[in-house]
Amino acid sequence: MRRLLLLFTVLAEPLAAQGQPILIKAGRLIDGRAAQAQTNVGILIDGERIRAVGPLAQVQAQAPNARVIDLSQMTVLPGFIDTHTHMLLQGDVTSEEYEDQLLKQSIPYRAILGARNARIALEHGFTAIRDLETEGAMYADVDVKLAVNRGEVPGARVFAATRAMAPTGMYPIGTPNWEIDLPHGVQTVDGVDNARLAVRDQVQHGADWIKFYSDRRYFFAPDSTLHSWVNFTDDEARAIVDEAHRLGRKVAAHAIGSDGIAAALRAGVNSIEHGDGLTDSLMDVMVRNNVYWVPTVTVGAHVVPRGGVWPALVALERRAFARALKKGVKIALGTDVGGFPWTEINQAKEFEYYVQYGMTPMQAIQSGTSVAAALLGQEQNLGAVAPGLYADLVAVAGDPLRDITELQRVRFVMKGGMVYLSQ
Ligand SMILES: [Zn+2]
Repeated sequence: MRRLLLLFTVLAEPLAAQGQPILIKAGRLIDGRAAQAQTNVGILIDGERIRAVGPLAQVQAQAPNARVIDLSQMTVLPGFIDTHTHMLLQGDVTSEEYEDQLLKQSIPYRAILGARNARIALEHGFTAIRDLETEGAMYADVDVKLAVNRGEVPGARVFAATRAMAPTGMYPIGTPNWEIDLPHGVQTVDGVDNARLAVRDQVQHGADWIKFYSDRRYFFAPDSTLHSWVNFTDDEARAIVDEAHRLGRKVAAHAIGSDGIAAALRAGVNSIEHGDGLTDSLMDVMVRNNVYWVPTVTVGAHVVPRGGVWPALVALERRAFARALKKGVKIALGTDVGGFPWTEINQAKEFEYYVQYGMTPMQAIQSGTSVAAALLGQEQNLGAVAPGLYADLVAVAGDPLRDITELQRVRFVMKGGMVYLSQ
């Protein structure tokens, strides 16, 4: 039923939208930036962008013949942003699940699922995603992005990282059988020249972001600090970051243990992904250098059944989250969806975890809207309901400031002035 409705709205929308402004009547507005919600707000939309936001009567007077969308019984918010996704992955709690996808599925097949996942994100209210690597599917994230941007398929706006990087032998798939050459989940990079070449290669093929794996093999020291084996030499990691920045791209580092986080921060990355082993002194460096933390709590909770070190990692991250909040570390919402199946868990679950972990509902909402947009360098386009920004909006029936799980039940989704979900 929901799918049919979506199809109908996608087909119907362009006929109605021809040049006519849209006035949204918002019963309650959480704009992604302000500390308080507002009531009885008008949002005037011209084409793909917002022209005006203010008291309903005042905005209505600016466009008397606008088409009205009545959300007066709902709470309107900016479209959500998930800053850590994997469209080309369908869950990989076990290494078998991961290897099945890389060995038994073609990249075209995986790209079809990727397009489906971009639509699932949109239906969940995520109008933009930073897709942090394709796990062996080369540059297929850029293809999904192109198809979405050209209107061929409905989907979230995609900021693509393409292939990610790790040195030889430090990322799956590994095998003791040296006679066969298996696919790798990343681009293999060794040495500083190779690092610069890899960045240029990925940017040439459409990478908006560069991602590398800073560490692996996580273990606890007796003092309960989480350690890890660092993948790149400092010179290699610095070469990746320097070349990316030179080409106008930012860098995300997978870093879970304190050693891996420290190495990534020495290299000058823009965001730490996962970051379970963050210590107080590493948090201080992040605040000082304006480095964002993307905690991906949802995937952590999902992989707890793996056992081993994972349950302890989740508990450690929860404590780190509380300390990071106090210190003012910028936390951008990211889920690592793809590490868990897109079809089983709504990404908006991440908002709920952040509130459980100590954020106010408003802080959690901003983490997945304006803070995420700032990480992407998209404050002028995304992450808030404000004049000049894209008309990327969602609406929920209740008040998410009272019940954050409301965000897992979006009733209305607009992206670039087009309605994709209305129920
Ligand atoms: Zn990931």
